[in-house]
Amino acid sequence: MFSYHRPASTEEALSILSREACVPLAGGTDFYPARVGKPIQENVMDLTGIRSLRGIEERAEGIWMGALTTWTDVMHADLPEAFQGLQQASRTIGGVQTQNAGTLCGNLCNASPAADSVPNLMALEAQVELESVRGSRSLDLQEFILGNRKTAKADDELVTGLLIPKPAANAFGAFEKLGARKYLVISIVMTGVVAEWNEDQRIGKIRIAVGSCSEKSIRLEKLEKECEGKRMDQIRISRTEFQSLQRSCFSFLIVAGMNLPQSKGHVTRCETGIELNGTFGMDTGIGMITNCNESCSRRCLRKTNRPDTP
Ligand SMILES: Cc1cc2nc3c(=O)[nH]c(=O)nc-3n(C[C@H](O)[C@H](O)[C@H](O)COP(=O)(O)OP(=O)(O)OC[C@H]3O[C@@H](n4cnc5c(N)ncnc54)[C@H](O)[C@@H]3O)c2cc1C
Repeated sequence: MFSYHRPASTEEALSILSREACVPLAGGTDFYPARVGKPIQENVMDLTGIRSLRGIEERAEGIWMGALTTWTDVMHADLPEAFQGLQQASRTIGGVQTQNAGTLCGNLCNASPAADSVPNLMALEAQVELESVRGSRSLDLQEFILGNRKTAKADDELVTGLLIPKPAANAFGAFEKLGARKYLVISIVMTGVVAEWNEDQRIGKIRIAVGSCSEKSIRLEKLEKECEGKRMDQIRISRTEFQSLQRSCFSFLIVAGMNLPQSKGHVTRCETGIELNGTFGMDTGIGMITNCNESCSRRCLRKTNRPDTP
């Protein structure tokens, strides 16, 4: 016999979690597809009755997104330009029904290597808020996701929201996703970038994260350092920049902030011998450098050229 709970407050939810093991249920867009054709065999705690967990607020410490904030909420929110990548990602998630029901925190807790929120939220340096009856804690997103479907969340903890430090006024965000077709597609590879530009068109601070190329999305910290203080046309990309990614044949990069207005049309050289223009292929006018070796059967370069191919 399994139980179903629908608490109306976070306190009630945490109290239930302290007494019995329950699977939290938010939009259900990962939960239900994982159980098709199988009876539900665990206690379920439906979070949708906790209204205080939904919403986006500007706070003194940063921008807070409650755990029930959906992709649609993010898409329509009035957010700084640094969030553009996250907003672009929200438009690529499934169809409208999935965007209306699915939450960002559900996406994080499910911890798929292909979770589209993760590179963007890493580039935004998001902190994950966790609560239990034992207290609350906040983890950097890089510490929260431990691996494929693994997070640092304890069984009695609930993710209550995300806190994103206020970005600089001149920060821009960008996202690109490569899939086998344009819509309703799992990412083969994706990148989230948040960059600040100096007045002389040099990159100030930059955060670049890549997903789907390793067990969990990761920041390319070496490349970030390489880019800082440079103009787009001064950036040289080498193989070593991709070393932290496990799928080297798929290692790729959208050149730092290339889809930002300041950088369109630049040609960037890559030591791998591939030289691509900033407007290469993509209908969004975004360039992508794909470091694809000869034996790679998935031919990502061809796919990059033809993003609509089913
Ligand atoms: C048709 C379709 C297309 C999709 N397309 C994409 C896509 O393009 N990109 C992409 O990244 N994903 C995609 N998804 C996957 C899914 O929609 C997203 O991962 C979504 O953001 C999950 O959110 P949810 O609220 O539905 O999570 P749920 O299914 O409710 O939960 C997911 C997991 O997180 C846990 N959880 C949820 N909230 C909390 C919380 N607050 N605290 C602790 N644990 C919690 C649950 O226990 C569960 O293990 C797609 C799904 C479908 C069905």
